[in-house]
Amino acid sequence: MDTTTARNVSAWIVTIAVTATVLASNGAHAIAHAEPQVTIVGATNREISLVQWGVAQYDTAGIDIRPVTIILHSRDEGWAPCRGAVAYYKSSSRTIDMCNSTRPDEERRHWILHELGHAHTFDTMTGSDINTFIDESRSNSWNDPNDRWQNRGQERAADIVAWGLNPEPKAAYWMQELQCEQRAELFYDLTGMEIVHNEC
Ligand SMILES: [Zn+2]
Repeated sequence: MDTTTARNVSAWIVTIAVTATVLASNGAHAIAHAEPQVTIVGATNREISLVQWGVAQYDTAGIDIRPVTIILHSRDEGWAPCRGAVAYYKSSSRTIDMCNSTRPDEERRHWILHELGHAHTFDTMTGSDINTFIDESRSNSWNDPNDRWQNRGQERAADIVAWGLNPEPKAAYWMQELQCEQRAELFYDLTGMEIVHNEC
């Protein structure tokens, strides 16, 4: 069997352990291996590498990812598990569904970073952060279903995080209305970090 394409939807669960700072019993901060933070379900070997690449970009940049489960769906499952989208983050279950198995790796890498970006912004943004971001990113709303999704702040936030973390950055066409420097500033506001590339 070709293990690079085999998919075990029922039971193949891979966990990625990341290092984290924990409070030791004597009160000192110590580096220790935390419980696995990212669970990958239903992935081929190639997809496991894809997800590990995405997690590594956050890890290298020093941006925490709180526990999340990433489910890779096969082409046969269509877009239904992602509510009609190519990928979908559900905050209540901390689950990312990926429905883009037919897309090129370059694009799938972007979507991994984007969906993890949703998890990061859900976990870290306050109400006033959100209001400021809507203003500065020229979004119409945070997540008003009456707005096209490109004009919703939560999508722009996830995409800016993905763009800033990708060594081969690709800003979506609908982000071109923001200057590169503006996107970099918004990335800093969202993550506390500088962008990882020299695009601006
Ligand atoms: Zn999104």
